Amino acid sequence: MSTATLSTKTELTFEAKLDRLAEVAVRVGLGLAPGQELLMTAPIEALPLVRRITEHAYKAGATIVTTLFSDEESTLLRFRNASDASFDKTPTWLYDGMAAAFRSGAARLAITGANPALLAGQDPAKVGRLNVATSRAIKPAMELITRHDINWNIVAYATPAWAKLAFPQDTEEVAVAKLWDAIFAASRVDLPEPVVAWKEHDAKLQARAKSMNEKHYAALHFRGPGTDLRIGLADGHLWLGGGTTAGNGVHCVPNIPTEEVFTTPHKDRVDGSVTSTKPLSYQGMLIEGIQVRFEKGRIVEAKASKGEDVLQRMIDTDEGGRHLGEVALVPHSSPIAKSGLLFWNTLFDENAASHIALGQAYSTCVRGGDTLSPQELAAKGANESLIHVDWMIGSGQIGVDGITAEGAAEPLMRQGEWV
Ligand code: ZN
Ligand code: ZN
Repeated sequence: MSTATLSTKTELTFEAKLDRLAEVAVRVGLGLAPGQELLMTAPIEALPLVRRITEHAYKAGATIVTTLFSDEESTLLRFRNASDASFDKTPTWLYDGMAAAFRSGAARLAITGANPALLAGQDPAKVGRLNVATSRAIKPAMELITRHDINWNIVAYATPAWAKLAFPQDTEEVAVAKLWDAIFAASRVDLPEPVVAWKEHDAKLQARAKSMNEKHYAALHFRGPGTDLRIGLADGHLWLGGGTTAGNGVHCVPNIPTEEVFTTPHKDRVDGSVTSTKPLSYQGMLIEGIQVRFEKGRIVEAKASKGEDVLQRMIDTDEGGRHLGEVALVPHSSPIAKSGLLFWNTLFDENAASHIALGQAYSTCVRGGDTLSPQELAAKGANESLIHVDWMIGSGQIGVDGITAEGAAEPLMRQGEWV
């Protein structure tokens, strides 16, 4: 790194970096097109970033920017006071409205920053019921997102509750400052020209995905402590990395940050055992030490050292909850992994380690997937589910082989690094 970069880093104020994050979200993350509407969701604490994104969006030509705020205190008040029947209900009209906005051309931006342990003390049955109700109602809107019909993006805001979980030894003020430093670094906004830096990074990830696509592997084989897992890949699977051109023709980088190349596994061709290498926050509850065994694509045994009941409920959401919908490769030297931090937030932790996701597959990770019917996608091995939960299985001790159609093993990663 040049000294010019270092001096730029120290000269930028927090306000300047927050503004750059907003600019990266609008220009790189969304690639927002003039004349587009923007629908944003955000925790109420993220108002300063929401306003900056709103400003950049209008400057980029947005027609209407609408933000839906969530408030965690209000969520807790529901769990403490609402009737039992409340937990099977969700504002379907709101999610229908979101889907309608996307269909009429709106882009979607989500600001993440929720307290990863918000619902840790609540009844897991109620949390599970509420999630099923919400997942069903939001499905039409989510399909437009997972199919990449529209341009979308997720960025992060350092809320105090999240910061305290990531930096438990520090005071709230110090923890928030440290989490912001980590978010700004991972989001590349402390580099001299973040938008240019993102274009270069995007090109590197696209090149990595291209080289994986040229291999046409039939399967991947992960080996490491507690892991010996063979993941068959979907027929006609496509590796993606960095940005994608959405169905509406806009090039977007859906995750800021992103370090992964990922594809669709075959839902019925996964065999062996796998152990998680990082804990996971799922719906405001924590799961640690996951150990799972697959047979013919299906989880037949699942354990966790903490939050096992949450894990069981998660995989019991529907049949697809027991099958894989994504496999992603991330080198152990990714900048987020090098930070050595555990974020308790999937947007960051999944970009620090190779990972798998249980549940819904991305149809964009199947060749011609956007034109295939659900039955045709399933026939190629793409999984369907109400959930899509990424969890980390990579580390500095993991080796990955690519298995060719003829059954030969080619080394892809050793000690967590690309060969
Ligand atoms: Zn992923
Ligand atoms: Zn995922």
